[in-house]
Amino acid sequence: MPTILPIRHQAPLPLDRLIRRDPPGAEAIEMDVLIVGAGPAGLACAIELARLVKREQERGGDQPDLNIGVLEKAGSLGEHSLSGSVVNPRAFRELFPELEPSDFPFRQPVPGEAVYFMTEGRAQRMPTPPTMHNRGFYTASLCEMVRWLGERAEALGVNLFAGFPADALLIDGTAVRGVRTTASGLDRSGQPGPEYVEPTDLTARITVVAEGTRGALGQAWREWQQVGSPNPQLFALGVKEIWEVARPLDAVIHTLGWPLPNDAFGGSFFYPLGPTQVALGLVVGLDYHDANLDVHELLQRLKLHPLFRRQLEGGQLLEWGAKTIPEGGYYALPTRRSGDGVLFAGDTVGFVDVPSLKGIHYAMQSGMYAARAAFAGLKAGDVSAVALAAYDRMIDESYIVGDMRRTRNMRLAFKDGLYVGGVKAGLMTVTGGRFPGGRIAMPEDASTPRTPVAPRAFTPDGRLTFGKLDAVFKSGNATRDTIPSHLRVGRDVTAEVADFYSHVCPAGVYERVGDELRVNAPNCIDCKATDVLGPRWTPREGGSGPKYRSM
Ligand SMILES: Cc1cc2nc3c(=O)[nH]c(=O)nc-3n(C[C@H](O)[C@H](O)[C@H](O)COP(=O)(O)OP(=O)(O)OC[C@H]3O[C@@H](n4cnc5c(N)ncnc54)[C@H](O)[C@@H]3O)c2cc1C
Ligand code: SF4
Repeated sequence: MPTILPIRHQAPLPLDRLIRRDPPGAEAIEMDVLIVGAGPAGLACAIELARLVKREQERGGDQPDLNIGVLEKAGSLGEHSLSGSVVNPRAFRELFPELEPSDFPFRQPVPGEAVYFMTEGRAQRMPTPPTMHNRGFYTASLCEMVRWLGERAEALGVNLFAGFPADALLIDGTAVRGVRTTASGLDRSGQPGPEYVEPTDLTARITVVAEGTRGALGQAWREWQQVGSPNPQLFALGVKEIWEVARPLDAVIHTLGWPLPNDAFGGSFFYPLGPTQVALGLVVGLDYHDANLDVHELLQRLKLHPLFRRQLEGGQLLEWGAKTIPEGGYYALPTRRSGDGVLFAGDTVGFVDVPSLKGIHYAMQSGMYAARAAFAGLKAGDVSAVALAAYDRMIDESYIVGDMRRTRNMRLAFKDGLYVGGVKAGLMTVTGGRFPGGRIAMPEDASTPRTPVAPRAFTPDGRLTFGKLDAVFKSGNATRDTIPSHLRVGRDVTAEVADFYSHVCPAGVYERVGDELRVNAPNCIDCKATDVLGPRWTPREGGSGPKYRSM
């Protein structure tokens, strides 16, 4: 079987589409600050900014109101939000000092925790590594947190525009001046249909990009501005399910080992969500070696293990979804996260600590810093790159970078496989990240060659295990069938590459038909995995994609 080098088949980033030099249209809507993405980063930014304005006004200053807008591609807030999630409440506490943890939109405190090393039939309990302790944290649904944050933002006068994806950054010289939204109502060939709505330009003195993992705008801006990082960003794909169960789960559980091959990095999570629900998922680094590896299918196999089976049996699958996680860590952080008229916050930058699988509080905290830098810039009448670089300094001095520095080589150690990686990770923990000294260099995920290992047949039973089409149904995806494809396929896609894409995508978007690739674009749930390893994802009609309720 031939080896596949994914990067060889990948389409280039469509920079001409994502960065637009033409001036905003005459009907452009003017904002002071425009935030792209209503996730924890974008909403924390909006709330902090609105509060800074109010506080300044209460002090009796001549601070005018600011027109703050948040654009979100999901049809309504939270529908594209997916996380584990165990939340460190630190950023919630800082953003809402007047509230108690019991006021926050969490499901329950972490009741206890356990880590297991798995083989196909057994689960061996291991000591919990210090980087994975969750005492004092809470389990939660990111959809619910996002809706709750959205209500707070709206109450402070922030304008929330759900169903409006940012299609491109509008630029003028080196400055970002706002965004253009995606058209809707196009037919399959890309021509305006009866429901056509043309793109809208929104201009802003400052644009805060908080578009989440593998963000198209962030990638484009960094390429255009030639902003690099010591290592390329790495990604993992997480596939997640929520189940209704008869008995509550009494601990936050993580597993390593089976069903992953030894040369893949990842593990599973199994979290209690109150007395009758559990969340479970499998996260796998996208630098795996087997071209037939399929994260969705591995999650289905995982549920057959006694550790999961005894909890789930007799229960019911409520929701299914998937999303990528930026996991390159400290050395993959871009050297600049600010520029002329623009700031970047949350996962689009890569603020995730991989050993603890945490990004929500970093996203919120970075959003709050972005708000403070934006407010100071607007007050001083200076939104240049020099003025907004204050944000980079805040980030560099924060616990976000402090935490990520301590675990800087942890993910990178696992490029030599689970066992070597495990030993190295232990030494890194003991030395606070000082072992092994310098940076471990990594290639980007798409540069790792893939060789197919003979697949083992798997037939879902429709009770405990599900195929991809049933799974997508459980994501609530109701994308218009006649939408044009938003996925840009590269050249030289052979039959083997088509097979590879069909395994990469958890939502069954890609199929090999004969020796050709068929793309079922409406199935896409915006996880961005193929943007990392295959066809490019671009923004599409607002409201397309999943409709998550409790992810
Ligand atoms: C499987 C999994 C498990 C995880 N577990 C945990 C955990 O237990 N604890 C934890 O702390 N973290 C966890 N994380 C990480 C955490 O979810 C992220 O770090 C966090 O959600 C990042 O917040 P964000 O606001 O930057 O991005 P997001 O939450 O992704 O929000 C970005 C928003 O921007 C929108 N958007 C994107 N592009 C556009 C566009 N062009 N126009 C308009 N809107 C756009 C998206 O629809 C989305 O609503 C997990 C992640 C995954 C995938
Ligand atoms: S096509 Fe959509 S759902 Fe499939 S991997 Fe790519 S982004 Fe994810």
